[in-house]
Amino acid sequence: MKTWEPAPREPESLTLVSDRLKDGDDWLIVTHERPDGDAIGSSLAVAHILASLGKKWTFLIAEPLPVRFGYLPMVDRAQLISRCDARQYRHVVAVDCADMQRFQEVAAFIAGDAEIVNIDHHRTNPRYGVAAMVDDLAAATCELVYHVAKALSVVFSPELATCLYTGILTDTGGFAQPNTTREVHQIAAELLGSGVQPYDVAEPALESRTWEQMHLLQMALANLTVSSDGRYAALYVTRGMIEGAGATDDDVEGLVGFARSIDTVEVGLLFRELADSRIKVSLRSKRRVDVSKIAQQFGGGGHTRAAGCTVNGPLGEAMDAVSEQVEIALSEA
Ligand code: AMP
Ligand code: MN
Ligand code: MN
Repeated sequence: MKTWEPAPREPESLTLVSDRLKDGDDWLIVTHERPDGDAIGSSLAVAHILASLGKKWTFLIAEPLPVRFGYLPMVDRAQLISRCDARQYRHVVAVDCADMQRFQEVAAFIAGDAEIVNIDHHRTNPRYGVAAMVDDLAAATCELVYHVAKALSVVFSPELATCLYTGILTDTGGFAQPNTTREVHQIAAELLGSGVQPYDVAEPALESRTWEQMHLLQMALANLTVSSDGRYAALYVTRGMIEGAGATDDDVEGLVGFARSIDTVEVGLLFRELADSRIKVSLRSKRRVDVSKIAQQFGGGGHTRAAGCTVNGPLGEAMDAVSEQVEIALSEA
């Protein structure tokens, strides 16, 4: 019996991307600011692929990575830009990065004429770079990097598989979000066959919370509100709350899910005050509203069911402005 195999949806761009990766010898790996499990997992998976092709690679980050991803193989080889000598890379792989602005300070290490290979799954990605594999139907960038590894005949070590599994697990919210597909489960099963220990990933990446995170959750739930028609809900996190809980910015990750999880709610919103007093907005929807379009109206982007943007404060005005657009989107949905 022939077994069903997940196929890449864009075979031509897969070939373009894999051919480019065979070319360069000294690669910079870059991902988006405040990297999540998919960003870090796909960066390190690309590192494993490049290493197995005998290439040099450098994974540069602007800020320390969240400690919960400390189990990822080679995560300790991510280099903080503040500890790196200035130089310009000519070969760059960008993963999970919807646009080049999201490289942030790492951009200073990219030569003006650099060849950028763009592997991403954000609907709003403009397909920058010399080779772009952008597939918004992929649940995670790690799903695309899986296809790249296959195309390059890379051996799936437990280390590579663990990086790929991390991105797939986290971007699908533990195989629960609307982006979860047959391909996702098929690839995940294959990665388990390559040696992933699923609970060793799920426990640190999804399950476990610090006490400080729990404290922040208590404070955020205390301000959770739902619209009069019950169709959208919002919560917020101020600097004072983060400080009061002894939490970090990363501890805010995932709180938006509580707003969306209310049964009547279609759109969940989270407003987070940043250190520079601008407001980071996270938008999540269930079935009907394309939140990436709302985020784009505010200069952000993302996916149909999960998107983000950063707007000017103060908090109350930001909440009003975004809520207004959410109401319009809901009335059209
Ligand atoms: P977040 O709310 O930050 O968890 O983001 C939800 C999704 O939208 C993630 O896939 C992000 O990568 C993406 N996203 C968030 N902010 C932006 C932005 N400013 N531009 C493009 N994509 C974004
Ligand atoms: Mn991401
Ligand atoms: Mn992603």
